Amino acid sequence: MSEIAASPATSTPSTLHASLLDLVRRTSSDLPADIRISLQKGREKEDRGSRALLALDTIDCNIGIAAEESAPICQDTGMIKFYVHHPVGYDTLALEDAAKAVVAEATAIGYLRQNSVDSITGKNTGNNLGPGTPLFHYQAWRKNQVDIRLMLKGGGCENVGAQYSLPMDLPELGKKAGRDLEGVKLAILHAIWKAQGKGCAPGYIGVCVGGDRASGLEVAKEQLLRVVGDTNPDDTLSVLEQECARIANGLGVGPMGFGGDTTVLGVKIASRNRLPASFFVSVSYACWAHRRRGVTLDPATNAITGWLYETADETLPEGH
Ligand code: SF4
Repeated sequence: MSEIAASPATSTPSTLHASLLDLVRRTSSDLPADIRISLQKGREKEDRGSRALLALDTIDCNIGIAAEESAPICQDTGMIKFYVHHPVGYDTLALEDAAKAVVAEATAIGYLRQNSVDSITGKNTGNNLGPGTPLFHYQAWRKNQVDIRLMLKGGGCENVGAQYSLPMDLPELGKKAGRDLEGVKLAILHAIWKAQGKGCAPGYIGVCVGGDRASGLEVAKEQLLRVVGDTNPDDTLSVLEQECARIANGLGVGPMGFGGDTTVLGVKIASRNRLPASFFVSVSYACWAHRRRGVTLDPATNAITGWLYETADETLPEGH
């Protein structure tokens, strides 16, 4: 009897579509473990009867209902950003086509609110598609695995992001931020303090020290993919992260600006080389509704092989 070779597993468009639709649904409606745990720690910290605790209790209720009903956590869908690591040869064009179709379908179902507007005419496109949305970031790697992380980055918190070109006077603090770690710290704290309740605190803060203007802001936002409880492998930055978070939570801004001890859930800092002539500190501010989820896919079938951000202690893929 002749041996019949098993058919190699193949991807069908519907497998990729189903995988991505599930990713969008969960990202929009079900906050990741680390953010939930941090918000819970904030609730334990705030005084009974305080407006800070009232705000966190309301947020907690919102989170529970959204997850239960697969409904958007916030009315602001946010900027839809896919971060993709893929093996060499993986068809990213097919992925992009599928992701766009999924975004339109998720909007029609109601997983995503219609929230993308033509910047010139002001017209809502109705399906969250248009020039520059969704956004895709690709990086090839040698693993035989596709890693897709989706972030829905709110507009209100995006508005309070900031970029500092050091040295810089910070009149509100009565100080000047110089080109050193103390200056970096002042710039980060200035951005957090200036946001006050705007940006829907407690915030989650991504920072890049260095780079150019564009790369600095991009790297700062990528830090928001890190989990709250991770430890920066760079000791200096690790200390700076902890110090900034500690001081920020003593500023008295609190949840939604109502006062209290929970102003930030964490501060994550990366550095990139800079030119001698410039020294940027770029700050990306994410709100409490920090919607980011991720999946790993089998590159041959595009079936989901694992969910990311299910526990509070995951790490980023190499290369971030
Ligand atoms: S900043 Fe965040 S929580 Fe506030 S409205 Fe925007 S998406 Fe919603």
